Amino acid sequence: MPVDMKKTQYIASVDAGGTKILSAIINSKNKIIARVKKPTPANDSPRAVINRIIECIEAAIIEAKITTEELAAIVVGIPGSLNPERGIVYLAPNLGWKNTKVTSQIKKYFGVPTFIENDANLGALGTHRFGVGKGFKNLLAIFVGTGIGGGLIFNNTLYRGKSFAAGEIGHIIIDPKGEKCGCGNYGCFEAVASRTAITREIKNAIKKDKRTVISKLTNNFGLIKSSILAEALRRNDKLTRKVLKSSAQTIGMVIGNLSNLLDLNAVVLAGGVIEAVGDFMLPIIKKSASEVALPQNFERLKILNSKLADDAALYGGIVIAKEAGVF
Ligand SMILES: [Zn+2]
Repeated sequence: MPVDMKKTQYIASVDAGGTKILSAIINSKNKIIARVKKPTPANDSPRAVINRIIECIEAAIIEAKITTEELAAIVVGIPGSLNPERGIVYLAPNLGWKNTKVTSQIKKYFGVPTFIENDANLGALGTHRFGVGKGFKNLLAIFVGTGIGGGLIFNNTLYRGKSFAAGEIGHIIIDPKGEKCGCGNYGCFEAVASRTAITREIKNAIKKDKRTVISKLTNNFGLIKSSILAEALRRNDKLTRKVLKSSAQTIGMVIGNLSNLLDLNAVVLAGGVIEAVGDFMLPIIKKSASEVALPQNFERLKILNSKLADDAALYGGIVIAKEAGVF
């Protein structure tokens, strides 16, 4: 084997989230051989977040017992709008980034080809090539967590749109008279069906003296974690069932609508909420989608629970590096 072929047999794949940065080293057999997680200094400067990403990659390189020279590429997934060709992030509120140049700073440090991509797009790619979405030509991935993200695969290729902003499923308006969304509009999908919306509904009910086991499971501050929703379901909590049912019905309605527009092969559901309570929600989602979708569109549509969890976006990095021809 030529020496330089042996040299670059790994990539560093990073998922830069609002609370944690997850960095992994992946080998040429598409296997994660090391992973490092560090908290995101989101309230610090944009540079501090970039430095933390760099630290996280360095720690993963050490953990994997490889050298920087053996890295073929670095791929960073970012929750926000960006231009992958220019390496600039337009807006990533959870990271405190606005018009932040990311690629050049990381590339300068490691001297390795560096790419950025929207995290939901990476998740869709990961699920499509390495997860339950494998083999489906046209696929929509939906990530239900604090917000709702989406990624579209058409003809086995990521669809980015004219300005790399396609897939923003969370901001489809469901109810113009609904709750205000982080984007400024009212009644967006994520303002109606995300974990933030689920939390809000449960808290409002608690304020109205509705009985729920959630009052005992949390101290009532901040978001209600997905694991607490799962525990409440296990205890057959009526309020939790009702609120999750409503969220699932909305998700199904959106899937049915989009299936009418796109005639998809598969919809893959992922994210913290699905991971925790997907078994409860999926049958409701399917039923609701079937009521909206035209029979021909629904007939062979697969609605699946992604089992890749946090790793979907990391695996997506492999696809980006391969497309660029460096891995
Ligand atoms: Zn919105």
